[in-house]
Amino acid sequence: MSRAAAFILLAVLPASLTAQADTSSSQWPPLKVVDVRWIDTTVSACVDFSKYANGAWLAHDTIPAAYSSSGVTRDMSDRNELVVRSVLEDAAAQRNSFPPASTPRKLGTFYATCMDSTAIETAGATPIRPWLRGIDSVTARAGLLRQIGALQVLGANVVFRYSPDVDPHDANHYLTLLYQGGLGLPDRDYYLTQGAASDSTRQAYVTHVARLLRLVGQDSVSAERDAGEVLRFETSLAQASLTRVERRDPVKTDHPMTRAQLAALTPRLAWPVYFRAIGLRAPVTKVNVSAPQFLKRVDSLLQSAPLATWRAYLRFHAIASAAPWLSTPFVQEDFAFRSRFSGARALLPRWKRCLREADGDVGEALGQAYVAKTFPPEARARAKAVIDDIRAAFRERLLHLTWMSDSTRAQALDKLARMGEKVGYPDRWRDYSRLRTTEGPFIMNVAQANAFEWQRTVNRPGTPVDTTEWGITVPTVNAYYDASKNEMVFPAGALMPQTFDANADDAANYGSLGGSWAGHELTHGFDDEGRHYDAAGNLRDWWQPTDSARFVAQAALIEQQFNEYIQVDTFHVNGKLTEGENIADWGGLLTAYDALQRALARNGRPGLIEGYTPEQRYFISYAQSWRQHTRPEQLRTRVTVDPHAPEQWRVNGPLSNIAAFAQAFGCKDGDPMVRTKEKVPSIW
Ligand SMILES: [Zn+2]
Repeated sequence: MSRAAAFILLAVLPASLTAQADTSSSQWPPLKVVDVRWIDTTVSACVDFSKYANGAWLAHDTIPAAYSSSGVTRDMSDRNELVVRSVLEDAAAQRNSFPPASTPRKLGTFYATCMDSTAIETAGATPIRPWLRGIDSVTARAGLLRQIGALQVLGANVVFRYSPDVDPHDANHYLTLLYQGGLGLPDRDYYLTQGAASDSTRQAYVTHVARLLRLVGQDSVSAERDAGEVLRFETSLAQASLTRVERRDPVKTDHPMTRAQLAALTPRLAWPVYFRAIGLRAPVTKVNVSAPQFLKRVDSLLQSAPLATWRAYLRFHAIASAAPWLSTPFVQEDFAFRSRFSGARALLPRWKRCLREADGDVGEALGQAYVAKTFPPEARARAKAVIDDIRAAFRERLLHLTWMSDSTRAQALDKLARMGEKVGYPDRWRDYSRLRTTEGPFIMNVAQANAFEWQRTVNRPGTPVDTTEWGITVPTVNAYYDASKNEMVFPAGALMPQTFDANADDAANYGSLGGSWAGHELTHGFDDEGRHYDAAGNLRDWWQPTDSARFVAQAALIEQQFNEYIQVDTFHVNGKLTEGENIADWGGLLTAYDALQRALARNGRPGLIEGYTPEQRYFISYAQSWRQHTRPEQLRTRVTVDPHAPEQWRVNGPLSNIAAFAQAFGCKDGDPMVRTKEKVPSIW
């Protein structure tokens, strides 16, 4: 994906909605794909293009207290959330007029119970007492797996992850996939890295665990002892966990096994008990295990970790998963801990938290109403036309690559031709008839939504893949490429200004929607990760060895380039972790540039617009699509967990490799935005 998940925008908002904005950038008028007032003309485009394109905006921007960053995604999300809010408020106010089992009734009930802070404060921890009693009732190891399964169904991240995903070796069917999981800190590295900063994070984690345990009534002595045990237990899981870089390698995480092999790998793990606990009735004949050594560690902890430690660990995660939706002391403790990683200074207003939870839990019910309000069929058609141009331009590039052999090229062309695309919204919406909602407490609606989603997919192994399904919701300001389905997905939320505007010039639209979005996602099909999958979505090496070797050598140049950039403080960007995204940014820019030239030839070349040539506006549009201002806490977290480089490098990195950029702005050899020829990679 290209961005941190969030929501979208709408081109024209009703005045009544605009007036409710509590975080709008009111000093700026409606979003434009290219906004020349954000350009800092005192900065040379050839020295720091990111600053040139966005510097005037950055100089005046203040990140609102409740956010970890501001910029394009937040601006689009802020506006979009006002639209979504009106949908939810209408549904909540009118819910009793809808039939009891109808989707609008459920949506309204979900949001109304989330907004009912009085009921939530009164209930305190009461709603999760039955979960805690279930955990406390485990007095023999044989009962652990049942509890683990039950908590996973409710939405808690405990121990490992079961996921019925597309079979990497048979992309037409689902398979039982087992992943590592179960950590309360954002990544395994937080448990294992040495140094004062890491020590302090781990100490803060222990304090956080103890506080949550005390909030459900444990005394301080036992809460602190248990918190120390939770850290020790999770450190053991972390030691057996793959790194983020390893997890990006589809070959390293591919371990198909028979049921007997799984049993031999984990002899103490009673899989039939676990499968029953999660409601998996489909016969499990084969599985794929992303990290065998991780499951082996779980297997050994099932015997070696004291039962009291297991209970403390499960209790903590049960409380932590519910904390954002319980009474104020839980919410505040949850926020205080998370803000260490986000840098946010204040909680989001309740309506925004509820809206985001509704989008996450019952998003397709919300998306239907959202599309009806905001996304006409013409918008979908226009966006599709730009995406088609990008496909055609990439095809031309493939046809003329000099380093690729004809046999690899033929397969690459086939993969491109068979790459699917979803634009705007699903053709078939999710059926929520089996979702249950009640008039409260709200956490029960969250748990029921999680259970609904679990039951919707749990018995998929062995069944045909649902090719109509979407992985993100319609109002989301994001997009993705799914290698196992060989498809690109662009929700309506991403297809409006500042990404795309049917009234803007071609250069603006091709720089942002064409380069940052469509070209980027398409190139993911051929980046260091996506290239391992074939046209059908199967994990299969279709590359001639010489072509593979050439690709790897050129990709290594990109890795080295980004390793040199500073992420924050003294931390460098992780060139390996961000390699796929950096290849996608760069390939997307090259491809969309070609598409722009074709569009200019077809539609006629305009003169200067607002003082800039089409080529200049193209690169400005790309750079402004990454307009972002991020708190240092968030940048420090991102260096560990995020496969995307900071936005300034997503601009300056690829552009300094592109001759057409230097030409457009008259940059010379030796300028910071012009890298020497030996360092410039050549792939797409
Ligand atoms: Zn991406």
